[in-house]
Amino acid sequence: MTPYDTPTSSDPVHIPDPEKLPDLAITTCGLDKIYRADGGARVHALKSVDLDVPRGGIFGLLGPNGAGKSTFINILAGLVIKSAGTAEVWGLDIDREPRLARAAIGVVPQELNLDAFFSPREMLEVQAGFYGVPPAERRTDEILERVGLSDKAEAYSRSLSGGMRRRLLVAKALVHNPPVLVLDEPTAGVDIELRRSLWSFVRELNANGTTVVLTTHYLEEAEELCDRIAIINEGRVIACDGTRALVNRLDNKELRLTLSADLPRLPDEMRAFNVELTGLRSMVFRYRTRETEVREILDALSAAGIAIADLSTEEPDLEDVFLALTRGTPDDE
Ligand code: ADP
Ligand code: MG
Repeated sequence: MTPYDTPTSSDPVHIPDPEKLPDLAITTCGLDKIYRADGGARVHALKSVDLDVPRGGIFGLLGPNGAGKSTFINILAGLVIKSAGTAEVWGLDIDREPRLARAAIGVVPQELNLDAFFSPREMLEVQAGFYGVPPAERRTDEILERVGLSDKAEAYSRSLSGGMRRRLLVAKALVHNPPVLVLDEPTAGVDIELRRSLWSFVRELNANGTTVVLTTHYLEEAEELCDRIAIINEGRVIACDGTRALVNRLDNKELRLTLSADLPRLPDEMRAFNVELTGLRSMVFRYRTRETEVREILDALSAAGIAIADLSTEEPDLEDVFLALTRGTPDDE
């Protein structure tokens, strides 16, 4: 049984039943893209990407500029033709069932392309018509309200600010009520206030059952918003894991100590550790949690007669993981 109705001309709307959605919102296998420029130059933008986006979460595709994020998104949106591999949206193959696959996903593109002469209301109505949503089932006012554009419903789109255009694009992607919403760099170049409001909007959508995929080159954004993250670099997925697990992968930790009394030189028995005196009354230990327990360090200090006034530990954030993973990634192009 599939959650989708067979399309007929009288029933062109295919909103999947949320109760019957498969476990994977998106799955790709060996997805490859080579752009060919006029001069014959090739850009290998995606290199055999296998990626699974589970139902229900907020999934982050994180990578630097030029990594291939938009290429990946645009293949799913039907805007870019892949060179090889397969892609499915809720189990619908984008080659075999392109129309159904496209109806099962909403994509907010990176570029702010809007038809300047339509009002937001007209734009949503046209979009709903494009997806075959019957007038009685359209939620134009509700969607405008959700993205905070009710009072701009009749304005010319060219008069909208950048932030409003961004929200209008999100609204457009929502007209057919897609169970997975994909946002390509939703907060690139937007101010901190709009960024926060987009984040809470994304969280709210997700809490109401929409699976969200977003691309970003902001580590902070991925760490803050996403429960699962794939890191893409030079067209290749180099890591994909739960956000916490990804951060834990780099298990280098620092233990910073403030001492109760001056310590002019490091006692010999402490030299077994990677330790540094950073001041007369401060020292820092660098260790791996898999090899060393804090207890061992504290016991050794105690044995050496060193009293501690205060201590703190430093955990790596995603930036460390990101840097560690992207450093020296081989490019076999
Ligand atoms: P990202 O979204 O992560 O910044 P893109 O998917 O836009 O990355 O680009 C990946 C690579 O493909 C880059 O090297 C980019 O220059 C190249 N590229 C993207 N679109 C085209 C295109 N239409 N023609 C040729 N090369 C392209
Ligand atoms: Mg991009």
